[in-house]
Amino acid sequence: MRALRCRGDGEAPEVGAVADPEPGPGQVLLEVTAAGICHSDITVMNLPGEGLPFPMPLVLGHEGAGTVAALGEGVTGWEVGDAAAVYGAWGCGVCAKCAEGRENYCLRAAGLGIFSPGLGAPGAIAEYLLVDDARHLVPLGGLDPVRAVPLTDAGLTPYHAIKRSLPKLTPGSIAVVIGVGGLGHVAVQLLRALSPATVVALDVSEAKLDLARQVGAHETLLSDEHAATAFRALTGGQGAQAVFDLVGAPATVALAAALAGVESDIVIVGLGGGRIPVGFGALPHGTTVSSTYWGTRAELIEVLALARTGAVEVHVETYALDQAPHAYERLHEGKVNGRAVILP
Ligand code: NAD
Ligand code: ZN
Ligand code: ZN
Repeated sequence: MRALRCRGDGEAPEVGAVADPEPGPGQVLLEVTAAGICHSDITVMNLPGEGLPFPMPLVLGHEGAGTVAALGEGVTGWEVGDAAAVYGAWGCGVCAKCAEGRENYCLRAAGLGIFSPGLGAPGAIAEYLLVDDARHLVPLGGLDPVRAVPLTDAGLTPYHAIKRSLPKLTPGSIAVVIGVGGLGHVAVQLLRALSPATVVALDVSEAKLDLARQVGAHETLLSDEHAATAFRALTGGQGAQAVFDLVGAPATVALAAALAGVESDIVIVGLGGGRIPVGFGALPHGTTVSSTYWGTRAELIEVLALARTGAVEVHVETYALDQAPHAYERLHEGKVNGRAVILP
């Protein structure tokens, strides 16, 4: 079959032929209908090409949806032809976190060498995807796979981050989204759907701020050296109750700290390498700083259910498999509005 592979060391990914996967016991073979591309893939492309705990070249893609093409021995509950989204945060399935469906925080995955598709295991930007266990499939339930596939990460990740902060997002509160890309434009919609908070979105690009307003942000601000002052002017000096940093760079985590109010949450989702100093007086009193990873299987079911109500709509641009390297160039240049989805 054909697939998009990356070699690491910052090299551009390439479309080529790889062996056809076959499902073993408990596994499911999915014919991929749509695969989303995430900024984290660029981090993967920049990993060293050797010495990793998984083999390179690696088939990219950790947002996948498709139809069941073949069932491994012992799989029940699924039929060939069923449409499914893939829950990508694969864990061991038995530890305390996995037992709760919180496989994104599996206690044993690293030790057992369990990797998510496209993040160590062969990924979804391919004609077929081998799904390690039938429990990783969630029925699409009538959703269009092209618009739904980004919900498996660009939807699920902010959903998980936001849900933890909902008790702080009471009427009159302010929620901030930094970075209105694939994750951020869904985050704005999730905040509008799940909370009464005023949503303030920041980005370096005017086009992304346009998108933020289009999807429901009450206020938008350019993310530059004047952003904190502009924010305080906008809010009458009030700090935010929750700040979701979907960039995570040194400049944005510093901005997140500057926008946070007392007893607020600062949630760092982006992989930009920024660090926030914590200590008495470093942040407004009572502030909690955390980083979150992906989301739970139950939350993916919830995000898909929310999408079925029409409350969340992913803006997508689509590409054929051969155009996938071009889609990544556009993502790298900050030109993708919403999420780019590959149709293998
Ligand atoms: P994206 O490229 O689609 O969006 C990033 C957005 O941030 C763009 O709109 C860009 O203009 C904006 N931006 C860049 N610099 C900025 C700045 N200084 N201030 C404000 N905005 C800025 O990326 P994405 O796919 O949405 O991913 C976002 C981040 O989240 C990436 O770092 C990705 O690796 C990470 N991520 C983390 C998880 C997790 O589980 N923690 C999951 C998925 C993605
Ligand atoms: Zn991702
Ligand atoms: Zn586990």
